[in-house]
Amino acid sequence: MLPVVALVGRPNVGKSTLFNRLTRTRDALVADYPGLTRDRQYGQAEVEGQPFIVIDTGGIVGNEEGIDALMAEQSLMAIEEADAVLFLVDARAGLTSADQSIADYLRKQSKKVFLVANKIDGIDADSAVAEFYHLGLGDTVHQIAAAHNRGVTQLLNLALSPHIDGMVLSDDESDEHDDEFDTVVDLEEGEEFDDSEETAQDDKIKLAIIGKPNVGKSTLTNRILGEERVVVFDMPGTTRDSVYIPMERGDREYTLIDTAGIRRRKNVTDAVEKFSVIKTLQAIEDANVVLLIIDARDGITDQDLSLLGYVLESGRSLVLVVNKWDGLDTAVKDRVKSELDRRLGFIDFARLHFISALHGTGVGHLFESVEEAFDSATRRTSTAMLTKIMDMAVFDHQPPMVNGRRIKLKYAHAGGYNPPIIVIHGNQVNSLPQSYKRYLMNYFRKALKIMGTPIKVEFRSTN
Ligand code: GDP
Ligand code: GDP
Repeated sequence: MLPVVALVGRPNVGKSTLFNRLTRTRDALVADYPGLTRDRQYGQAEVEGQPFIVIDTGGIVGNEEGIDALMAEQSLMAIEEADAVLFLVDARAGLTSADQSIADYLRKQSKKVFLVANKIDGIDADSAVAEFYHLGLGDTVHQIAAAHNRGVTQLLNLALSPHIDGMVLSDDESDEHDDEFDTVVDLEEGEEFDDSEETAQDDKIKLAIIGKPNVGKSTLTNRILGEERVVVFDMPGTTRDSVYIPMERGDREYTLIDTAGIRRRKNVTDAVEKFSVIKTLQAIEDANVVLLIIDARDGITDQDLSLLGYVLESGRSLVLVVNKWDGLDTAVKDRVKSELDRRLGFIDFARLHFISALHGTGVGHLFESVEEAFDSATRRTSTAMLTKIMDMAVFDHQPPMVNGRRIKLKYAHAGGYNPPIIVIHGNQVNSLPQSYKRYLMNYFRKALKIMGTPIKVEFRSTN
């Protein structure tokens, strides 16, 4: 499970600046889809090879009303679900009463809290941060300048280290762990463990069922489980954990990642599962294939688009599912279809299914697309084959001239799977226009019959 880091602090201390810095590499992934903007609140991030989820909680101050109160509630939930909390204060503005009330709240939580003074660039940081020790959140005020990327990597290494407790750090311990190398070794040990787990279940399809509340996730899960042979086991979990259900279908083994938590719904007192973006993000990261469920009765909502954005950011395989397709008249169906075209037309790689989880219509066919996507995402293709396809693409449509010379593509090889990455080597490839890159990507997709997964084509210049 990916660790979760929550950014907390009053408005204007630099939370979104830090958030953007941590999640910047994801911009490029989403940039491939002009119909989408990256969500600026929840993001997948990475520091020195360690992936994690970061949440910008917005400004909780403690006296919110109306819509702000609703957002504050989500923020409090995010803090509850986080492994580490970075409490940002503004080293330039000094200590405020809003900082005080947030500190009061955090002190009551049993969370790893790191007190972080931001904007230390160009000021006498040590004297500026002195007053923040009065917040009573431990002996360390971590100093950063998010806008200039100062202290950020070091801070995140600390926050993500399982052996460091944030606010209970004593001076001695902090000295010991200032040694960055120590922390890095810890992380690598953790990663190795993850890897071995991955290879052990390599041929199992991990299928995540995601969607906003009430789209029919649990109805669909129940429908699937009702029709297939299921080996159910109970797993202990916290509120942010999905339920993992092993199952077989035909000759294939699956693990359903059930974000609606149907196992727990048997408990009457806990009848409605709280929707959690973190839970959804974790499920996407952990899956091979994602079923994104959309409610035909609501059309495409902003929340659907934001969940879709997370899937695209992750590079996971995707099958789009419009549920509740029963009992709709033709006019409504037509409206939904044209809305799908308009708002999701830019997703050219995912199959689209119209189903009724309630009646079971179309549910079986989902698995054809799931298996196709999984096979597309994991199939191995040789260098010879990829180079041949590249040559065919060039033969059909030459790359343009740059500075009087034609761009030359030399050979192609696989750079990774799930999603498939194709690496093309050649001369001046950095000058290839976007339109030609897109042409190549689509050519590979067609030639290899890849469906259900995004493809990445990367270029390496040989001169
Ligand atoms: P948020 O409301 O907590 O999300 O704060 P923002 O990220 O929007 O930042 C508020 C302001 O502080 C912006 O004008 C940023 O450019 C500025 N800011 C953020 N980080 C730094 C920093 O490290 N140094 C300086 N000097 N300004 C910063
Ligand atoms: P979840 O929150 O995403 O797990 O959604 P549920 O599975 O709990 O479903 C929410 C509501 O939608 C319930 O009242 C379901 O009976 C209803 N529902 C789910 N699937 C369908 C469907 O295919 N057709 C119709 N008409 N209703 C459905």
